[in-house]
Amino acid sequence: MECNDIKCPIHGKLKTHGYEFEGVVVSARAMKTAIVKREYSTFLHKYERSLRKTSRIPAYNPACIGAKQGDVVRIANTRRLSKTKSFVVTEILKRGQK
Ligand SMILES: [Zn+2]
Repeated sequence: MECNDIKCPIHGKLKTHGYEFEGVVVSARAMKTAIVKREYSTFLHKYERSLRKTSRIPAYNPACIGAKQGDVVRIANTRRLSKTKSFVVTEILKRGQK
């Protein structure tokens, strides 16, 4: 498939830098957007416990990658693409069911 997307990290001119995360796509309903859920743990000094936290990161989802709900993907920090998106899906690590 030909890819003409200028915002594609593989075929376009979009450069990535900084943070890279792995996460699960929880929603891919918005156009060319995937909401990626990331789990991480932090340490709370007051109670001396570590706790798991989640965050939802909206990421650009180019047509040639086409991540779907349930997929495990790698996302990378890039320039700000819209009001909420400053990440882009660079790779699908594992396809989800269906
Ligand atoms: Zn592409």
